[in-house]
Amino acid sequence: MSSTPVGNIRGKKIAVVGAGICGSLTAWLAQQAGCEVHVFEPDRDKKSCSFTAAGMLAPMAELESSDDNIYRLGLQSVSLWPSIIKALELPIFSRHDGTLVVSHRQDVGAFNQFVNVLKNKLGEQFSASCELLREQNLEPELKNLGTALYLKKEAQVDSHQVLAALHKRLQQGSHWHWQRAESISSQQVNGLEFSWVFDCRGLAAAQDIPGLHGVRGEVITVHAPQVNITRMVRVMHPRYKIYIVPREHNRYLIGATEIQSEDTGPMSVRSTLELLSAAFSVHSGFAEARILALDTNARPATLDHQPIINHQFGLTRINGLYRHGYLLAPAVVAKALGALAIDAASILKQGVYADCI
Ligand SMILES: Cc1cc2nc3c(=O)[nH]c(=O)nc-3n(C[C@H](O)[C@H](O)[C@H](O)COP(=O)(O)OP(=O)(O)OC[C@H]3O[C@@H](n4cnc5c(N)ncnc54)[C@H](O)[C@@H]3O)c2cc1C
Repeated sequence: MSSTPVGNIRGKKIAVVGAGICGSLTAWLAQQAGCEVHVFEPDRDKKSCSFTAAGMLAPMAELESSDDNIYRLGLQSVSLWPSIIKALELPIFSRHDGTLVVSHRQDVGAFNQFVNVLKNKLGEQFSASCELLREQNLEPELKNLGTALYLKKEAQVDSHQVLAALHKRLQQGSHWHWQRAESISSQQVNGLEFSWVFDCRGLAAAQDIPGLHGVRGEVITVHAPQVNITRMVRVMHPRYKIYIVPREHNRYLIGATEIQSEDTGPMSVRSTLELLSAAFSVHSGFAEARILALDTNARPATLDHQPIINHQFGLTRINGLYRHGYLLAPAVVAKALGALAIDAASILKQGVYADCI
């Protein structure tokens, strides 16, 4: 992964290919820095992986299967998101009140294992960012579940609202092409000349990024008027782990599967049953919930599950955000633009800067 300063694109004409979370943030920050930005995005139907995401900003919970690099980038992004939302000046639902990790009493082994992994990986930081609650009162409707772990610094954003806001600002201040990029190379997209090109095509860039592959994920959106949970909830279970993400007006996202496949076809009966029965076992109010959407997509993943920034002259590829598009994009994009003389931290009036990729 390259982080050498490679150029200066301030005030220049640039192209961004792909307007998922990665491309949209790249394009918007470049627009804020005074670039003439051209966005190429063919998807009018909101089918990209970034629309499927639950929008959790969960650096601690993700530590179970990730590492210190993702954790530090994640913390930086969590601190950058409020400035991004403020600067967009459009309604975006977000919450910064943490995650509650719970289990059924018979699954306390899986819960304890999760706690031990976090203690081990976080070391001295464990007590500052996590709290073991023997009797939790944070979510009164989940009191029967016993001991919980509260991950205080986690947050969430509504992914649809974030993308809608970014796209609106880009369509107002940049050149938006409802077009697929058929050819992408240094300083060129579809034969048009640019000072710099950003390839943010997610999984569609697999032919140009060795090892990039898709990991199928499924998530269900329900309307559950009988459930009143405000924080994100992770349920530890020996076989499958689920999360419940509360949104406005008693809507909940229940996710997510993780299957080694690039199949983005409709959700399987098995996944639907597992996710919904796990949610129902946590709160019986989900029995009467109405299913609003069953969404499937393939996360763009590298072989080591780390994000990549690949700079060549006139062309930067940003990819591999895997399970962490919203968790990582602000820090990763800031790092990529930093190598091209755009200081995202000063645009966002933040002192935070990513230097760990
Ligand atoms: C079920 C599920 C739940 C998830 N939950 C979370 C979560 O809670 N938190 C989190 O941080 N992450 C989550 N993720 C991961 C997150 O969705 C991804 O990491 C992220 O969306 C990747 O963003 P991207 O912009 O790199 O790619 P994409 O979102 O795939 O965007 C790529 C864009 O490029 C466009 N494109 C492709 N080819 C071309 C071309 N030739 N020309 C022009 N445009 C093109 C596509 O139309 C698309 O819009 C989840 C993923 C799934 C599947």
